[in-house]
Amino acid sequence: MAAQETVEHKYVYDFAEGNKDLKDLLGGKGANLAEMTNLGLPVPPGFTITTEACKAYLTTGREPDGLAAQIEAHLESLEREMGRKLGDPQDPLLVSVRSGAKFSMPGMMETVLNVGLNDRSVVGLSAQAGGNDRFAWDSYRRLIQMFGKTVCEVPGEEFEHALDDAKRAKGTQNDLDLDADDLRGLVDAYKKIFAKHTGREFPQEPREQLDLAIRAVFESWNAERAVVYRRQERIPADLGTAVNVVAMVFGNLGADSGTGVAFTRDPGSGAQGIYGDYLANAQGEDVVAGIRNTVPLQELEQIDKKSYDELLDYMARLEEHYKDLCDIEFTIERGKLWMLQTRVGKRTAAAAFVIAGQLVDEGLIDLDEALHRVNGAQLAQLMFPRFQLDHEFQPVAKGIGASPGAASGKVVFTSARAVELAAEGESVILVRRETNPDDLNGMIAAKGILTSRGGKTSHAAVVARGMGKTCVSGADELDVNVPAKKFTVAGQTVNEGDIVSIDGTTGKVYLGEVPVMPSEVVQYFEGELDPEQADDALVKAVHRIMTHADEKRRLQVRTNADTGADAARARRFGAQGIGLCRTEHMFLGDRRELVERLILASTDEEREAALAALLPLQREDFIDIFREMDGLPVTVRLIDPPLHEFLPPLEQLAVNVAVAQERGEDVAKEEALLAAVRRMHEENPMLGLRGVRLGLVIPGLFAMQVRAIAEAAVEVTRSGGSACPEIMVPLVGAVQELETVRAEAEKIIAEVVGDSGVEVLIGTMIEVPRAALTAGQIAEAAQFFSFGTNDLTQMGWGFSRDDVEGAFFWRYLELGIFGISPFESIDREGVGRLVRIAAEEGRAARPGLKLGVCGEHGGDPDSVHFFHEVGLDYVSCSPFRVPVARLEAGRAAITTTGSDSR
Ligand code: PEP
Ligand code: MG
Repeated sequence: MAAQETVEHKYVYDFAEGNKDLKDLLGGKGANLAEMTNLGLPVPPGFTITTEACKAYLTTGREPDGLAAQIEAHLESLEREMGRKLGDPQDPLLVSVRSGAKFSMPGMMETVLNVGLNDRSVVGLSAQAGGNDRFAWDSYRRLIQMFGKTVCEVPGEEFEHALDDAKRAKGTQNDLDLDADDLRGLVDAYKKIFAKHTGREFPQEPREQLDLAIRAVFESWNAERAVVYRRQERIPADLGTAVNVVAMVFGNLGADSGTGVAFTRDPGSGAQGIYGDYLANAQGEDVVAGIRNTVPLQELEQIDKKSYDELLDYMARLEEHYKDLCDIEFTIERGKLWMLQTRVGKRTAAAAFVIAGQLVDEGLIDLDEALHRVNGAQLAQLMFPRFQLDHEFQPVAKGIGASPGAASGKVVFTSARAVELAAEGESVILVRRETNPDDLNGMIAAKGILTSRGGKTSHAAVVARGMGKTCVSGADELDVNVPAKKFTVAGQTVNEGDIVSIDGTTGKVYLGEVPVMPSEVVQYFEGELDPEQADDALVKAVHRIMTHADEKRRLQVRTNADTGADAARARRFGAQGIGLCRTEHMFLGDRRELVERLILASTDEEREAALAALLPLQREDFIDIFREMDGLPVTVRLIDPPLHEFLPPLEQLAVNVAVAQERGEDVAKEEALLAAVRRMHEENPMLGLRGVRLGLVIPGLFAMQVRAIAEAAVEVTRSGGSACPEIMVPLVGAVQELETVRAEAEKIIAEVVGDSGVEVLIGTMIEVPRAALTAGQIAEAAQFFSFGTNDLTQMGWGFSRDDVEGAFFWRYLELGIFGISPFESIDREGVGRLVRIAAEEGRAARPGLKLGVCGEHGGDPDSVHFFHEVGLDYVSCSPFRVPVARLEAGRAAITTTGSDSR
């Protein structure tokens, strides 16, 4: 036993020890570096410190026992392998220290390069680089800058100002014009800045540099921008980051060196080919930051054919191995290619579908896997409209289509202003030279992002793609002047508040607001594009994957619709019935007056007259819908909202009456109305006279609706159609309520239906917590349940559904009380538990009880998976969400491993 207790926890893995499936422990970057190492690709040697070590550090505030010794041992073996020692004055080994969490969080956490440089080893580095003093001193000043900013929180601008001063003194604007002496001077200036802010000298001891850098990477997990990003991307807060310590290779050693990023397919469209950016004589950070403009990867063929061919070979091998689009970071050091990173690459929604389809064609994956690799959020994005362009609109600039979509809005130049205007309900476009992680809140608030610098892999591009937000990057015709809050382009000046439109697919920028046109995916769903004929890889891929989803899914998908037109559209989109027809929507407009008469009726005759006038109107409504949904079930919900909504506002009426009285006018009628409105007035209408309560209080109201439904069904059936009505009673909390309504309804149905063959089901919504908890009893009287998760969430949490999201949810999200509004995605543990209980107890009481959901959650991807798990028969959602629900229901049916497609 004693021996076992001393077995040390393993916190450090050599690259050769890991593999791509160890992302939880080694983070994405570390796991993939290990995978590439084991594939025999040229990865600079290094090791990974695990997320476990990070978590232990973050919990206790100190490095866990044994970590220091393990780092020492791995460092020694790295030194042996490289034949160099960290910080050796003659021939130093330098390392990079990089974060790498399980899920990619681009630019959110820290990196320190060139660790191991000090006043002595800088000389050794120069010798290593063939006497290149300039390179050595440039590397040293970069270390002090990054280390100072990242590890010791020295304000980054101080270093930038010092660099600007050095360039000004030299009379240049270009870093490359600074020679070794200038850079040596800059190192001195940087050291002074460091000492001023930290109260200590820049650490000369290489191992101390390394330990502090590792600690800073651990701590960067909790940096504010990382926290915000995780919340936005729904990445759990407790994963921690791994740290990769890697032997440095240099892309800035001259014209035969360089650095770049490559994609095995176009992450924008999914098209096959060679995509990427290359920057000669530069370090990787320069490309990702978008600071200097890159050349297309193809040009590397001319610059260094050997490395280019080798890279293409590795790209093909990686794609074959990962069976997916890979993105790659590489560096060429004096003609030698090094692979610095790979991962399954982020892609646009269109590319996700196209690539999944291509990989099936290529036999690399099957259709189940293709379905797993796309998701409803991506499909929803593809259903957005695009710009409608005619001669009137000429682009004023063209950048890189970094993240698709069409966005128009007021120009803003700072993250803070974006947040401010968005909070006022404005659409804004955040315009920057380039973005950095501090702009995150502004990017979240903006409708679109436009930058004048940077490629497809710049911070703006990567983050916007991740968020599904429209982005044009690298529109270099724009001269952006942030302090003056303006940019100039094509001889025109655009000020803060002016409107621009950006197309994230083509990269084009327009002045003014451009009208939009529908997406081809919507046209396909509408039946306007034949997928077999369409010359469109996206439509073909969507068709193929949707067809597979339909074959696989167990959940049926219905729609929420209250008009024939909505029903027809939803049917084209694949709806298999109506799950919720809200009849109160049929009482608006001209019919308001009839409802008012009904409510205010003081005699049975008056009330019956109002109901008699409503009956034929309702019958026509239902005929329309039954015809459109011919042969499919239609759930009609009896009227739900508080009746006072149909009456004039109390305060207004009281004032009118008082004024009229003052003038001595005859106000008898108005007074009667005011008295009625007062009678109906409720402090909490959402908890008042609505739903089944109304039906029980106003004689004849539900009866009229039931009759209209039954008569419409009979008429449609008699004229050769097929109507399948399901009458649904809202807001039931006790079985007795349902039984009372049902007894009356059954009588009317029997009378109307006669021998027509029409069958009418009677069921209930489960949307009051008490109904969920007494579902066993309620099921005795219900032929089906439909979960009203909007009200169930409202009453389960006690959150007013019309108020709280705008009022204070931001604070709840900030505090992490929930990661997403429970009105948007089902709260599995709480409200979801009510659904589960009701489903189980309902089915126990009435085996085979039909179960559905018709709250907004029916079209939310995560919630669809939950409803699949709980065993519902169908989800019902708005017509536009129907394809999303079909896709997710298919994905839910094939997702057995719980693997993550993020
Ligand atoms: C619900 O409460 O979830 C529901 C579908 O009903 P409504 O939104 O009309 O209240
Ligand atoms: Mg409801």
